[in-house]
Amino acid sequence: MQHFPIFMAVAGRRIVLSGGGDAAMAKLRLLMKTEARLTVVAADITPEIERWAAQGKLRVIRRAMDKGDTICAALFYAANEDAAEDARVAAIAHAEGALVNIVDNLHDSQFITPAIVDRDPVTVAIGTEGAAPVLARAIKADIEARLPQSLGILARIGKTFRHAVEVLPMGRRRRDFWADFYFNAGPKAFGDKGAAGVIPTLETLLDAHIAATQKAGHVDLVGAGPGDPELLTLKARNALDKADVVIHDRLVTPEILELARREAIIIDAGKEGFGASMAQSDIDALIVAHAQDGHHVVRLKAGDPTVFGRLDEEIAALESADISYQVIPGITAASAAVANIGQSLTKRGRNSAVRLITGHDTKGYADHDWRALAQSGEVAAIYMGKKSARFIQGRLLMHGADPCTPVTIIENVSRADQRIIATTLADMEPTMTQANLTGPAITFLGLAPRDAAAYANQRKEFA
Ligand code: SAH
Repeated sequence: MQHFPIFMAVAGRRIVLSGGGDAAMAKLRLLMKTEARLTVVAADITPEIERWAAQGKLRVIRRAMDKGDTICAALFYAANEDAAEDARVAAIAHAEGALVNIVDNLHDSQFITPAIVDRDPVTVAIGTEGAAPVLARAIKADIEARLPQSLGILARIGKTFRHAVEVLPMGRRRRDFWADFYFNAGPKAFGDKGAAGVIPTLETLLDAHIAATQKAGHVDLVGAGPGDPELLTLKARNALDKADVVIHDRLVTPEILELARREAIIIDAGKEGFGASMAQSDIDALIVAHAQDGHHVVRLKAGDPTVFGRLDEEIAALESADISYQVIPGITAASAAVANIGQSLTKRGRNSAVRLITGHDTKGYADHDWRALAQSGEVAAIYMGKKSARFIQGRLLMHGADPCTPVTIIENVSRADQRIIATTLADMEPTMTQANLTGPAITFLGLAPRDAAAYANQRKEFA
């Protein structure tokens, strides 16, 4: 982010603009929405600016800008549509301490003006750092259509009512009340009776919410996918939008946690492979406790919650505490990983079954049907297989697997730092150790990346 969005207090402060043509008018139309004191400095001005001056909306100084014109100005706009003149006036404003914007000159501007959706006091500012004005306009149109025109008035009335609403317990119940007001009862009352109808509606609505019985908590057991937020399901997004509490795994990425409701409490229940930093029973208890407080809890698990996710223990804890829950599936690491090497998990004529296996279980290295896995054409996705690589390699070779069987390791699937390492069973170790894997990694037995050239390159890298 090269520009940090903030809202600046400008009421009663000076904003000076140099220029009197079309560019100046476009900026003035925005600036006149504020309570700032506007001064236009220009030898020539359009009749429209003249009219605004006559209406007292701004002050005009009818000459080219000079030293002293921007003293005490908070902001300064150079809008002369003339690069040399803009540079000259910007230098004056700089020297006099105003923050400077040169219209259509991102490089020399100290701040930029976003596209604005105005439902004062609700203001949405959209910026693309100058990269995509078309996109900014499309987003603006989208938000304009979505926010009721009455929203600003409702927000202003709502603000005066905030104190009264404190009788409702903080969190979900208070939030439900406001959601009901802003998107339901409020616009309806405003539409029917105008602003005068809104206050009585607020009162009736508050009574109804006070009378409502305390809602029971609920838990969504949600698959977060392999890390890329775009691989979340819409259901997962919606759950994150509504969550009061998010309890997440170590592997859930910050980009996904960003999507949680801003007020949500985020709890890291991360567990390192081999040995837990938070015992499963403690996690179960944590989920239950937050749900019993009446919260909407999202238990966010990497990949799909039903794959090596200890889901059943959490479900058992919820059922014994009689808490409602639902499971929202996610994209498991194996599915996302094969997509990135252009392969299928099953393929007609090659393998009609695929195994998802773990490298270790509660007792240490996990044992499997090695004889079956050693057959040619077998495909297995090995989760949690970093530490057990040598053990798996040894077991498979011992049971007669072809040393040339392809093995592909994919680290950080779907993330910016994803790595694909293609090798063979014979070279699986030491290739994996040499690769120095630091992120989560999944190993495919029996699959090579579709692109043979990439395969050769990767091999070179780790030779
Ligand atoms: N429920 C998860 C798996 C949890 S077990 C799922 O469905 O994906 C944890 C293991 O999953 C890791 O050790 C690793 O083998 C695999 N894994 C999870 N996310 C991964 C990712 N982004 N890239 C590679 N492997 C990943």
